[in-house]
Amino acid sequence: MQSWVIGNWKQNPATNNDVNMLLDQLLAAVAKDGVTTPCQLMVAPSCVHLASVSGRVQGTPILSAAQDISAHSGSTGAYTGDCSAQQVADAGATWTILGHSERRQYHRETNDTLLQKLTHALSQNLNVVLCIGETQAQYDASETFAVLVEQLAVVKDWLAQQSLESISAIQASNLAEHLIIAYEPVWAIGTGKVPTVTEVAATHDYIKQTLASFNNNLAEFTVLYGGSVNADNAASFAANPAINGALVGGAALKSESFLAIAKAFSSAKS
Ligand code: PEP
Repeated sequence: MQSWVIGNWKQNPATNNDVNMLLDQLLAAVAKDGVTTPCQLMVAPSCVHLASVSGRVQGTPILSAAQDISAHSGSTGAYTGDCSAQQVADAGATWTILGHSERRQYHRETNDTLLQKLTHALSQNLNVVLCIGETQAQYDASETFAVLVEQLAVVKDWLAQQSLESISAIQASNLAEHLIIAYEPVWAIGTGKVPTVTEVAATHDYIKQTLASFNNNLAEFTVLYGGSVNADNAASFAANPAINGALVGGAALKSESFLAIAKAFSSAKS
């Protein structure tokens, strides 16, 4: 069964040289023993490194993703500081992360913004990893499922929009091939705290059921877990069939830990 391990590099590494060193190690390991099959690897560098990373991974088993795209325009325009879906795709990326909790928190991203971004990405044939997840306060108040339904409304709205006007190259019927959901409890990101595997699996089942309720012609979605995944805990998440992979932050910045996570998913899902 195919699994996914995606490294979100955030605003790291500091220099082009460090980016190349990390990539050298990943590419050498993948070339040496093909460790990752059937686990699909992906890295999401900062936008300034995206074109060079995408160029270097082309033709290798590693995919590249942007960490975000412009909400304002899918192509060009007077939007200082933004990078569009078209530009990201032209840089060689085939995926983009959207709705990471750091974007929701520091850039006040709402469902309306995310619907615009999702629409632009899919219109430009750019696949999407959509991040969703509850805060500590919401978890403590047992509001996780309600929060996830509210955040998944972006997908429901995209489907509704699509049924009115087919504006995307990607059709609703094959959305599951182009959209991955990453369940990332905000309280688990970068904290070393993790939900239990049973909690994650129940949440993933709930996400899959919620998406299926939007349109019963959709194939089952890939749902990843993200939040303090590391070389030590990856195997426990990988062993659960509801968990299709991991979105990794801190541990993706060292090739050893990132590859150890990939190997855990690769062996569990073989
Ligand atoms: C993330 O930011 O997407 C993430 C999962 O970070 P970390 O692995 O460091 O918790």
